[in-house]
Amino acid sequence: MHEYSIVQALLDQCERHARDNNAEKITKIEVKIGVLSGVEPHLLETAFNTFKEKTICEEADFVMNIQPVVVYCSECKKEFTLKKHDYACPECQGNLVKILDGEDMLLMRLEME
Ligand SMILES: [Zn+2]
Repeated sequence: MHEYSIVQALLDQCERHARDNNAEKITKIEVKIGVLSGVEPHLLETAFNTFKEKTICEEADFVMNIQPVVVYCSECKKEFTLKKHDYACPECQGNLVKILDGEDMLLMRLEME
């Protein structure tokens, strides 16, 4: 499953950060999941809970923030947060829009001790 490899990469990243900061464990992990990233939040959470055992993240809270799609319309010169996933500007209906956010999954914040 796609989410499993994502979690593996995430855990690697956490271990690296912990090592760089001489931390003994991670207490909280916050990720941002774009609605266009293709990542299923509940599958990601399941994968995380499966893989975290015996890692530095074993006791960490896993917080997922869902990021909606944010686009910039070069006609209206404005940013919009889209309620549904079409790629047209909600104001002028034009499709000269650039996606600014909502496409990827990122590690946003770690708490460790
Ligand atoms: Zn527009």
